[in-house]
Amino acid sequence: MLKLSLVAWLIFSLAWRTTPTACRQTNAPQSVQEMLAEQLQSYMDTKARPCENFYQYACGNWQIQQQEQHSLRDRDWTRDRQRYQGQLLPTDTLGLIDHSVNRRLELLLRRKNESSSESDSSILEQMRLYYRSCKRLKPYNLKKYLQLLPPSNSTQWPSVGRGWRPEQFDWITTLGRLRLHGLNGVLLREEVLPRWDDSRNYSIYVNKPSRQETQPTGEGAMIELLLDIGQTKRTANALARQVDDFERKLHRLQELEDDEGPREMQLGYLDSYLPQLRWLSFMRQVRIDSELDLRSTLIIENIPYLRALSDLVESESPDTVCSYIMLKWLAFLKQQGPADISRGECVAALRRAMPLASSWLVGQQFSDPESESYVRSLFQRLKVRFGQILAENRMRLSPPLVHILQQKLHAVRLQMGFFQPDEMEDVEQYHVRVDLSGHSFYGNQLVLLRQRVEANHDLLYINVTNLANSTGSNLSYLSESWEASNSSPLYVRPRNLVLVPHGLLQLPIWHRNISALQQHAVMGFVLAHELAHGFDMSGMDYDALGNIMGPVEEIGASRQFRQGLQCLQQQMATGSKWIDEKLADFVALRLAYETFFGVRDKREPRDPLMPQFSQRQLFFISFAQFFCGRTPVLSPRSQSEAHLKHAADELRVMQTLANFEEFSREFGCDKKAKMQASQRCRIW
Ligand SMILES: [Zn+2]
Repeated sequence: MLKLSLVAWLIFSLAWRTTPTACRQTNAPQSVQEMLAEQLQSYMDTKARPCENFYQYACGNWQIQQQEQHSLRDRDWTRDRQRYQGQLLPTDTLGLIDHSVNRRLELLLRRKNESSSESDSSILEQMRLYYRSCKRLKPYNLKKYLQLLPPSNSTQWPSVGRGWRPEQFDWITTLGRLRLHGLNGVLLREEVLPRWDDSRNYSIYVNKPSRQETQPTGEGAMIELLLDIGQTKRTANALARQVDDFERKLHRLQELEDDEGPREMQLGYLDSYLPQLRWLSFMRQVRIDSELDLRSTLIIENIPYLRALSDLVESESPDTVCSYIMLKWLAFLKQQGPADISRGECVAALRRAMPLASSWLVGQQFSDPESESYVRSLFQRLKVRFGQILAENRMRLSPPLVHILQQKLHAVRLQMGFFQPDEMEDVEQYHVRVDLSGHSFYGNQLVLLRQRVEANHDLLYINVTNLANSTGSNLSYLSESWEASNSSPLYVRPRNLVLVPHGLLQLPIWHRNISALQQHAVMGFVLAHELAHGFDMSGMDYDALGNIMGPVEEIGASRQFRQGLQCLQQQMATGSKWIDEKLADFVALRLAYETFFGVRDKREPRDPLMPQFSQRQLFFISFAQFFCGRTPVLSPRSQSEAHLKHAADELRVMQTLANFEEFSREFGCDKKAKMQASQRCRIW
């Protein structure tokens, strides 16, 4: 993923109006290129030295420019000045893009009877119901969910009302019930994914939660949630302490080795192999409307963890375990819902709750066949150049291995938008079953969450032979995740697919009249980054068919590969713990650059709009400006995440450029300059 954090801060009364389509122009219209040239220079802090801190040089004035644009043009500015200076101003380029997508959707949702066909209007009508129910909220009250969905039919939650019956509480049943409503990664993980050995078919995978998911929440955050649902301070303090203690014990279970390895088992066998887990009780909740087939199989990993988990949970008091599950459930619902009750937040929540419908609507609004064919041909040229790089074989792999990699590269496709026109029928079918109301936000939210999980489990029974005729990308298994709810592009490993949401095709990222240089430096980089994920440490596991049978071990045997990897690991400084992201950035910058300039050394004429820079310098500035962002305001709540993310973006730009020899040559950086890595890493 290009964007690590999915939470974008969006606000509506604030508009992104530097686009040339803004309608209030009275002077002679500026060309897109003139406008972008002006903008590029206005973001720069030319007092900074490019060889010392290129991020500051390229982005130093971004924040000032953004604020000025808003204060000059936005009438609501004065009224909401406080909020703009706070969290809600878009923090970066992708934030701006999603802000503008949401704004367009919001206008559509408020307008009536615009839709042409009947099926269009029924999906749109559902979206309007959700949106209206959200707008009617005052305030977002998490306690309502607890009233709507108790842990089982025979007990209430420990903190709500008087109906708590600890003797009736059964953790695995409750977990299954909440799993059906979207909760996952609490105590364990259960999901339907493409099979590792046959990616067209699906299987249930059961595993321990990720390390991130068992990371203790901290008493402060728990107390905040408990106060939200009306607990007294005293009770909240005591309960948070109890749960915190449990979370720490739970997190320690991560240390257990998986000495049994992943295994595929029939449901019936698992029940006798690991009786303490009582897996059937869980599954009966998830498949509540159908009979369980005990001969059906699932793939189970980390059995020692699951065994220890059952022991731990049984030894704790039901109060603690149930409160832990409840707090995790509340945190999940809080994330899903609107951050505050504003028009913008209701659209953002709508995109999370109805990703499929929103993606359909975004496609209708932003799809532009002409731009799409430009982007496709750009992608094709990047692939050709990557093919040449593979053929150069820097890692000295054997010819059959190079051939396997070339085959995989050949298989990688680009898709615009989350689904294809011929999958439209499925989207309609999906929404026919949804029953929403304009007056019940909490009910709607639960209905939509449940439908996603059910649809996901229905994939276990799809008929693969029918699919063979479909040109569809078969991405429905992603519908449970958030991928469709924002405009960040992504790489889908089991499908060998680079997915570019339609919303991304707008300024400041894309316009069909921007210069070829800018197209390569921004969209070219974005596409190359996703393409490179097919060949990073996790991507290489997947072969040309999307099965986890890639030649990882064989490639790992190459000395050159191991050296490259070691070099990358040495550069893993603060804020960038994702080696795959670093690898993708390094590969992508080179790929986009070489695709545009070619590999030979030739001088290009300077851009008449910005004669002070060489073409190559402009390329690096444009690339860096994609990552410009706001330095977050210090506030106790957002501090850590927003700051880390900003620091990570800054570091990304600096490290990626410092690793590319052409950069230091072009800016004349000397050997000791900060923007020149002492050792340059290269894998491909
Ligand atoms: Zn990425």
